[in-house]
Amino acid sequence: MMTNYPHTTRNNQWVCEAIRKIESDFQRSADTHLIKLDLRYFKDIDIYLKDESTHPTGSLKHRLARSLFLYGLCNGWINEDTTIIESSSGSTAISEAYFARLLGLRFIAVVPQSTASRKIDQIRFYGGEAHFVERSDQIYAESRRLAKALNGHYMDQFTYAERATDWRSNNNIANSIFEQMKFERFPEPSWIVMSPGTGGNLATIGRFIRYRCHNTQLMAVDPQNSVFHEYYRTGDTSLTLDCGSKIEGIGRPRVEPSFIPGVIDRMETIADCDSVGTIHWLETVIGRKAGASTGTNLFGALKLAEDMQANGEKGSIVTLLCDGGDRYLDTYYNLDWVKNNIGDISQTINHLMRYQG
Ligand SMILES: *Cc1c(COP(=O)(O)O)cnc(C)c1O
Repeated sequence: MMTNYPHTTRNNQWVCEAIRKIESDFQRSADTHLIKLDLRYFKDIDIYLKDESTHPTGSLKHRLARSLFLYGLCNGWINEDTTIIESSSGSTAISEAYFARLLGLRFIAVVPQSTASRKIDQIRFYGGEAHFVERSDQIYAESRRLAKALNGHYMDQFTYAERATDWRSNNNIANSIFEQMKFERFPEPSWIVMSPGTGGNLATIGRFIRYRCHNTQLMAVDPQNSVFHEYYRTGDTSLTLDCGSKIEGIGRPRVEPSFIPGVIDRMETIADCDSVGTIHWLETVIGRKAGASTGTNLFGALKLAEDMQANGEKGSIVTLLCDGGDRYLDTYYNLDWVKNNIGDISQTINHLMRYQG
C-alpha cells in the first residue's frame, strides 16, 4: 500500500521550528535527581531512586512524549495541521498534551469512560481533549479510526516507545544514571530494576548496559494482572487478560510490541499489596509520596538487596521513582480505597520498617 504525506516536505520551516521548540524546552530543563536511600540495615549495599517525578509534567512519560514527538516530526508524520491522537488515560496523555500545546497542535486522548476525572482534568489542563469509549479494549481501534478521519497521527506509545528513544546517546535515562553514579562507592550498579508499562525504559536501559559492556544486570518487575511476566517465561505473544493492572502505568492485558524480553536478565511478579505498602513506607524514608509503580520497583530492589546481603555481596542497585503521589491521593493514599481494592498493606509496611533501624 502506498501512503502519501501530501503536507510534508523535507526541512519544512514549521517542522524545523517545532524541533527547535522541543530542543529548547529540553535545554531549559535540568536532569532529574538520583536519590540515595538511607537504609542502615544494608551495610554494603546502596539503593538509589532516579526521581522522574520532577519533569515539568510530573512523570517519566515526559521523556517518552518528547521522543515520540521528535520521532514523528523527523519521520514526516507530524506537521502544522496534524491532530495528535493517543490511546492513554494516564501519564503519557498528560505529557503529550504538554508537547502538543508547545507546538500549537490539537491533541486528543482516547480514554475509557471509567477514567478518573482528575486525570481528564490534567489532560485538559495542558489543552488536550478527551474522547471517550465504553470499554478499555476499544481505545486502540478508535484511536486508529480517529486518526484516519481527522487526517491526524496516532502516536501509539505501545508500539513506538522502544524505538523512539535513542538508546546509545547522551541524553537518555540510562546514560544519566551511569553518569550520576560516577562518584559513588559502587559506581557500576549490580542491578537496575524497572517495571514495564510500554517496556520502553527497560529497552533503553537494557540496550545501553549491553552497548557500554557494563557489568550490570536488569531486573523487570511486573504487577499482578499483567501478561508480561508470563510472556517472558513462555514467549507466547497471544496472551491476554480481561482485567487491567491496578498499579497505574505498568502491567498490560496484552503483549505490547515495545516490551523486549531479550534485554532482561531476571523477572519477578510483585504482589499489589507489596507495591502499595512500599510507597507508604517510602514516605517515612524520603518524606514524599510516589505512585504505586515506584513501590513495585523498590520492592523488587529491596528483595535483590536482601539476596545480595545474604550472599555476602556488596554493590549498588538503582531503580526509578516514576511519578509523584499527588495524582493518587484518592486511591493509593486513601486507606479505605486501599483496603477495598488492594487489601492489607500493614504486613508489608511492618516488614520494610526494619530496613531503616
Ligand atoms: C509508563 C510508566 C511506567 C513504565 O514505563 P515504560 O517505559 O512505559 O515501561 C512506570 N510507571 C509509571 C507511572 C508510568 O507512567
